[in-house]
Amino acid sequence: MKIDDLPIRDELRGQSPYGAPQLDVPVQLNTNENPYRLPEELVARIAERVAEAARDLNRYPDRDAVELRTELARYLTRSTGFALTTGQVWAANGSNEVIQQLLQTFGGPGRRALGFEPSYQMHELISRGTGTEWVAGPRNADFTIDEAAAVAALAEHRPDVLFICSPNNPTGTAVARETVLRLYDAAQAVKPTVVVVDEAYVEFSHQDSLLPLIEGRPLMVVTRTMSKAFGAAGLRLGYLAADPAVVDAVQLVRLPYHLSAVTQATALACLEHTDTLLGYVRRLKQGRDELVERLTAMGLEVTASDSNFIQFGVFEDPQAVWQAILDHGVLVRNNGVPGRLRVTAGTPEENAAFLQAVATVIKELS
Ligand code: PMP
Repeated sequence: MKIDDLPIRDELRGQSPYGAPQLDVPVQLNTNENPYRLPEELVARIAERVAEAARDLNRYPDRDAVELRTELARYLTRSTGFALTTGQVWAANGSNEVIQQLLQTFGGPGRRALGFEPSYQMHELISRGTGTEWVAGPRNADFTIDEAAAVAALAEHRPDVLFICSPNNPTGTAVARETVLRLYDAAQAVKPTVVVVDEAYVEFSHQDSLLPLIEGRPLMVVTRTMSKAFGAAGLRLGYLAADPAVVDAVQLVRLPYHLSAVTQATALACLEHTDTLLGYVRRLKQGRDELVERLTAMGLEVTASDSNFIQFGVFEDPQAVWQAILDHGVLVRNNGVPGRLRVTAGTPEENAAFLQAVATVIKELS
């Protein structure tokens, strides 16, 4: 029996599961994780909080995750200067699940989502998975959003959901506040459109968070994650900030008790250590800037990065370069962007190994 022998939905036929190769190589710089392990003090605190939660595992967890959402609202308020309440914040198992809940609520059969490609591929895949039609909007040659073309695409396709990824994955660049405002207004002028600003990497940006833009814009949603800056990809905790009505609306599709008591306890422990964890962000940004400098000095074209990763090229055969870098023990990512590869900023040692590998590969190929 093969997948295609099963009576699966037509739109899933011939598709492959999303995910970068998980290869066991010494230097893994392919999935935009934080390379630093959690500090022992935090590990001990997680164990303590999880032990507490474990005693009550005979009961379902807090379905509304109120304590966690309150702490997330506090973190957002502290880091953006924009005061948020618990009712404006919602959390789920990774921002992927947050996005899925948004699409289940505002997309679905007969509805349409639009994003500007190349961007985070899961926006398209979760759209398709929820029966939402996907429309790929254009970008400029430098990977910034082409505003005129974007406004035209909004008028033509009339999406119900618009994705703006800032900083954008895989290209790395943040979207200007003015562009987001213009696109929000242009979308609403056509029809009520939920605008999802995916800020998974915002803690690494040169630019301020766009989160304060939710004020007075009830259809603007900002999604965040603890997988990147907080260095807790294994935790699976994503969240959103929006008008309380949006938070109420996603309750209609969330599974009851979707966030386990263990997840809530672990996330709360991590949030107690926000300052330590965000200390790594400063180091990673510095490493990122050094990588940009060094790659540029090698004569490569580097896309401006506001993230913990960098898009670089231009290569005639990026897959061959990806393989050659891998042959030197360094795993980077080929996202299928013509001529380009993507590398995640790692520890200083990992960055050095990567730069050494690239320098050697460039020499080998020339
Ligand atoms: N948004 C973007 C732009 C991402 O790159 C990722 C992860 N690679 C996510 C969302 C999802 O992250 P998570 O589900 O771990 O929160």
